[in-house]
Parts: sequence; C-alpha cells; structure tokens
Amino acid sequence: MPELPEVETVMRGLAPAMEGAVVELAQVNRPDLRWPFPDRMAERLTGARVKVLRRRSKYILADLDSGETLLVHLGMSGRMTVSGDPLGRFAHEHPAAQKHDHVVLDMDNGARITFNDPRRFGAMDLLETATAGQHKLLAVLGPEPLGNDFHEDHLIAAFKDKNSPVKSALLDQGIIAGLGNIYVCEALFRSQISPRRKAGQIAAGRIASLVPIIRQVLLDAIEAGGSSLKDFRQADGELGYFQHSFDVYDREAQPCRSPDCPGVITRITQSGRSSFYCPQCQR
Ligand SMILES: [Zn+2]
Repeated sequence: MPELPEVETVMRGLAPAMEGAVVELAQVNRPDLRWPFPDRMAERLTGARVKVLRRRSKYILADLDSGETLLVHLGMSGRMTVSGDPLGRFAHEHPAAQKHDHVVLDMDNGARITFNDPRRFGAMDLLETATAGQHKLLAVLGPEPLGNDFHEDHLIAAFKDKNSPVKSALLDQGIIAGLGNIYVCEALFRSQISPRRKAGQIAAGRIASLVPIIRQVLLDAIEAGGSSLKDFRQADGELGYFQHSFDVYDREAQPCRSPDCPGVITRITQSGRSSFYCPQCQR
C-alpha cells in the first residue's frame, strides 16, 4: 500500500507530464472505484488545463484552470503510468490498453496518464478548488509531517493523557497526516521508543525527538523515490514503487542494526497490523 513517500514520488513523476498541459481527452471506463466518480467526470476534465499538482497526506491534488481540483487516491493497488511524455523523462510508447485501466488522460503535450487499479480501493473526485480543504476526506487530517504545523508542541499536546500505544497514536491521521505502518515502525526504531509504550506515558523530550526523526525517515524515503524516477529500470513508466531498505520493517528475526545492540527484530500485532521493533533498544 503506498504511503506518503510513494505518493510524493508519484506526484513528482506526474508533474512534468501534467503541469501546464491541457487534458485533451479524458476517458473514464467505469462508474466508480471505491466510491462513485463525480457526475460527468470525463466532460469536466476534458479541456481543463492543469495548473499545479500538490499532495495532501496520501492524496494527489491537481488544480485545474476550471476552478476545480482533481483528487486522486491510489488505494491499495492503484498505479499511475506516464507514456509518451514529450519532455523525454518518460519517453515510452503508449502501451496497449490493459484490464483495469479505469481512467486515461491524454494531455495536449502528447503525454498519456493511465490509472490502473485491479482492486479498486482507489478514489477520484472533483472538488471546488477554493473549498477543497473542507472536503470530507481532507478536513479530518492533521498537519503534514513535512509542514510547519507539525512541531514538538503539537505532538506533545496530541499525546497528552493518551492511553493508546504510541504506534496507534502515530497512525491516527488526525494527529499526523499520511504516516502508515512502515514509516511509523522505522521512526519508532530510530527514536528507540517501543511501539507498545502508551503515548501519554512518554516523556516530553522523547516525544519532541520524534518530530525531526519522522521528517528524516520520510525525506530518506522520498529521496530513494526520487532516485527511482531517474532510474532507467523504471522504464515501464510506472510511478511510485521503488526499492528502499528498512531498519526494522519486514525484518523479523534479523539482528538489530543499532550499534552494539544484541537484540533481534520482533514482530507483534497491534490493531490488526504488524509492528516490527527491537525489544532490547526500544523502550
Ligand atoms: Zn536493538
């Protein structure tokens, strides 16, 4: 499932093909994904110029000169492919249409954007740009971890008296937007905080230390994603899935990478999801 760095990478890959370009033809091949598409989506997209792409949490937002914003969520299995981009960054021939190509955008610069999603947990919607932040999916989100509203005081206040494990608190999208299972595990490892520790019982100084660590974990992954965009092995034009090594995620029973720690990475289940951590150095 794509997390914030993967979505950021997809957005950066789409930007050169979409920003400034007009949607010449929008093809919408089914009535819905996770939710129904908005009325007349193809007509509303066709002829619109994409002003800018931005990201909020795990949503990609394309502001159009029509006053509307296209919201895209990749869901569990959504994939974006760019073909025919004249800027040469993704100089791929248009591939043959595939099963599950639900939305296809032909841009006036020759690029084609294809959204393929076999499991259909993804979503697309059209919102009024001026009030996009009030959309039901966006209004509930806490601050962006890489933005200025995410800081020590915010996290300390959010954790105060919280009885739930810190792992759940960090996955709470109202506290911090866009963090998922993988990067929460990695951030807790770097901060040496056990995922089982109750959020309300962590000293303020340790909570504060999470802020730069969370940022760095995400920035490291975004950097790995950026390298993948330049990588010719990504030659099929598909965006957002890249090789990245983790310190604890999916490393059950392997040795801890903390210097001089004799610990072994352990997997536990919390709220139905796997947590990976080192019980020796994460307290
Ligand atoms: Zn350890």
